[in-house]
Amino acid sequence: MKCRSCREPAVIELRRHNAGFCAPCFLTYCRNQVVRAVEEHKMIARGERVLVAVSGGKDSLALWDLLLDLGYQADGLYIGLGIGGYSEPSGEYTRSFAEARGVTLVEVDLPGDFGYDIRSGAAADHRVPCSACGLSKRHIFDRAAVEGGYDVVATGHNLDDEAAVLFGNLLHWDVAYLARQRPVLPERDGFPRKVKPLVRLAEREMAAYCVLRGIDYQVEECPMSAGNRHLGYKDALNAVEERSPGTKAAFYHGFLEHGANLGAEIGEREREGLRPCSNCGAPTVGEICAFCKLVRRAGGNPNRRIPVSAGPVSAGPVSAGPVSAGPVSTGPVPAGPVPAGPVSAGPVSAGPVSAGPVSAGPVSAGPVSAGPVPAGPVSAGPVPADAALADAALATPAPGAKETAK
Ligand code: SF4
Ligand SMILES: [Zn+2]
Ligand SMILES: [Zn+2]
Repeated sequence: MKCRSCREPAVIELRRHNAGFCAPCFLTYCRNQVVRAVEEHKMIARGERVLVAVSGGKDSLALWDLLLDLGYQADGLYIGLGIGGYSEPSGEYTRSFAEARGVTLVEVDLPGDFGYDIRSGAAADHRVPCSACGLSKRHIFDRAAVEGGYDVVATGHNLDDEAAVLFGNLLHWDVAYLARQRPVLPERDGFPRKVKPLVRLAEREMAAYCVLRGIDYQVEECPMSAGNRHLGYKDALNAVEERSPGTKAAFYHGFLEHGANLGAEIGEREREGLRPCSNCGAPTVGEICAFCKLVRRAGGNPNRRIPVSAGPVSAGPVSAGPVSAGPVSTGPVPAGPVPAGPVSAGPVSAGPVSAGPVSAGPVSAGPVSAGPVPAGPVSAGPVPADAALADAALATPAPGAKETAK
C-alpha cells in the first residue's frame, strides 16, 4: 500500500478513510485532525493557557505533544491515584515526557496531598473505583484550572472513547448525559471550559502516533478497570467497525450533527440551584460537594491547595477563534500539500522519530518498536484500555448528576 499523500510506502492503513500513510504524512494527518477539531468546535483560541489532563497513557501524552507541536501554551497536570504498581510508572512516563520537552507539569498525589487513594475513597464513599476516580479527577482538574488561571482544560478523549460513551448513553437512554457529551463544554457556573481535541482520531491512531513520535507511555491496564462497562461497548463497536469501517466515526459525528439539542432542557434544569460548596467553594447542588464528602469519609483532607501557579490571564475574548497551524485539510483525510521531507521507505524505526515536518523537541527513545502499524479497526500495538478510561474519566458531569467514570 502506498501513502495517499506522497505515494511512498505506507506504514499505517486507516480503513475508515480507505487510505494508507507513510510516517511523516501520518503525523501530519494527526495534526490536521486536531486543528480541524479545534477550529470546528472553537475549542482553544491562540494565546490561551491550556491545562492538559495527563494520565501517562497514550491519548493524553499524544494530546499534549500535539498541542505543543501546534504552538499552544500547554501545561500538564498529573494526578497520582495511589493505585499500587500502576500509578508510579504512569507518573514516570509523564515526568519523562515533560522533562524531555522542558514543559510545566503540575503534580498532585492523592495519598500524599489529600490523604486517600482510589481504593480507600471508593470504599468509604460506597462507589465503584472508577466512579471515585472520575469524581476526584474532575474536581482536581476543575480546581486547578480555576486557581491556576487556565483558560481551558484539554482531555484526551478519542473517537473510540466518545463513540463508546455515546453507545452506552443511548443504550440506556441517559438523556442527561447525552446533553453533556460534546467536544466542548463552555465555561460556566464556576466550571472551566473543557475540550476534547482528539475526537477526530481513533485509539489505534493515537497508539501509532506515540510509536512514531517515540513517546513512551503506560501500556498496562489499570487494575481497577476490570468490569468497566465502557470496555464492553468498545468491543461491540469494534466488531461493527471491523465489518464496516467508518461506522464508528459516522455514529459519533452524526450525533454531533443531529443530536445537538438532545437533552438540552434537562441540562438547563440541572444547572439550577447551583451554589458554592461550603467547604471548598466548588459549584454543587448540595451544601457540601461530592468530592469533599468523599475525601472526608475516607479520612483525608479535601482542602489541600493544588500547586498551580497562576499565570498571566490571557487577554482577549474567551471564545475560541480560528487557529492557523500550517496546511490544514478540509476533508476527512489531509488532501492538501504534505511536506515531502525525508520519507522513510520501510518500517519505521524505533527511537527518536525524525519525521520531517514535525518538531517538538527531543523525544525519549524507549522500548517502543515500531514496525509497520498493522491495519485493522481494533487497537494495534499496545493500546491499554485503562489509558482511555483514565482520560475519559475527566468529563464534567452535570451538577447533581451521579458520578461515573465518564
Ligand atoms: S480504570 Fe481508569 S477511571 Fe477506573 S480507577 Fe483506573 S484510572 Fe481510574
Ligand atoms: Zn507520505
Ligand atoms: Zn467541596
